[in-house]
Amino acid sequence: MTTFDNASGAGINTLAVHAGQAYEPLTGAVVPPVHFATTYAQDGIGGLRSGYEYSRGGNPTRDALQEQLAALEGGRHAFSFASGLAAEDALIRALLAPGEHIVLGNDAYGGTYRLISRVLGGWGVGHTVVDMADLDTVARAVAAQKTRFVWVETPSNPMMKVTDIAGLAGVAHAAGALLVVDNTFASPYLQNPLALGADVVVHSTTKYIGGPSDVVGGAVVPNDDELAGRTGFVQFAAGAVSSPMDAFLTTRGLKTLGVRMDRHSANGQAVAEWLAGRDEVEAVFYPGLPDHPGHGLAARQMRSFGGMVSVSFKGGAPAARKVAESTKVFALAESLGGIESLVNYPSEMTHASVKGTELAVPENLLRLSVGIEDARDLIADLEQALAQL
Ligand SMILES: *Cc1c(COP(=O)(O)O)cnc(C)c1O
Repeated sequence: MTTFDNASGAGINTLAVHAGQAYEPLTGAVVPPVHFATTYAQDGIGGLRSGYEYSRGGNPTRDALQEQLAALEGGRHAFSFASGLAAEDALIRALLAPGEHIVLGNDAYGGTYRLISRVLGGWGVGHTVVDMADLDTVARAVAAQKTRFVWVETPSNPMMKVTDIAGLAGVAHAAGALLVVDNTFASPYLQNPLALGADVVVHSTTKYIGGPSDVVGGAVVPNDDELAGRTGFVQFAAGAVSSPMDAFLTTRGLKTLGVRMDRHSANGQAVAEWLAGRDEVEAVFYPGLPDHPGHGLAARQMRSFGGMVSVSFKGGAPAARKVAESTKVFALAESLGGIESLVNYPSEMTHASVKGTELAVPENLLRLSVGIEDARDLIADLEQALAQL
């Protein structure tokens, strides 16, 4: 059985099912076994049978996931971690030294901001927060410091701003910095930042990649061998690796990414269009709507527009809170990207850690993670929730 990598010319859905997923040679099992062993017997000192020695350093189940992730992002390497934030922490520690600087989008994920400002800030890494849509401002912020990373999420969380990845790569590279893209919201099915000039992609695989909301994980996908070597060293030396069971569940989710994302996008579009026609709604933030400021750019750099929809209400915070507490199909919960629809009140939930900072989000905003249920049931649920206002 041949496997496929991204040099094979295979399409993304074939890669999702087959990359790194060779049939088990002894029995032909089509699902590779999960390797729980922590250590590997050696034939004499240094006599490793297949390169595996100790499971923190290397594990076949984790390797299978890493190959699959690299193939889907079009990267040469991938490293899988115990969470998205563990992946980000390892990447930053691998490539930055105290005294160096990160220029970060002004609506970055709250946990990323907390990691960079409160954990890595204490270690000596500086940060500046800017509007990534304004490339001149980004260029000035990059030049003002010893900037090593420009760090962007597109579409961003929760304001759904779309940033020009190729343009931003040009700005970062002109100043000798690297462009890091957090591709969690789009997933590798909708957007491949490395192909647009980014140097490293990071993921919270907890979200769309994992799929059914049952495994926490993260990934770093670099193209360059030297960046990969340094990231791999921190993965091994600091040890925030994914467990074999987590790697297996993530691989299983990733195999169905394409079919899930097609449905998430179709449902996201239907929900966004319905909300845009409602009197209670102040604004809908979804790049699939023609009047979204990033619509044209998203149409160029994404395959489709995904399942994340944010919405603000004319009735302010009380209206947003009432709707969040009235839905029945949309569960009120943190996280996103799962097959089940979720509603989140960012200013008190996912983004509570940025309250009162330059990243604070509007208090009349809800973020919907539109799942793969039937669109008419999702819309009926929102209709009965809006009727409570
Ligand atoms: C959830 C999330 C993270 C953090 O990932 P964890 O798996 O929760 O550690 C980072 N970036 C984005 C965009 C996220 O949504």
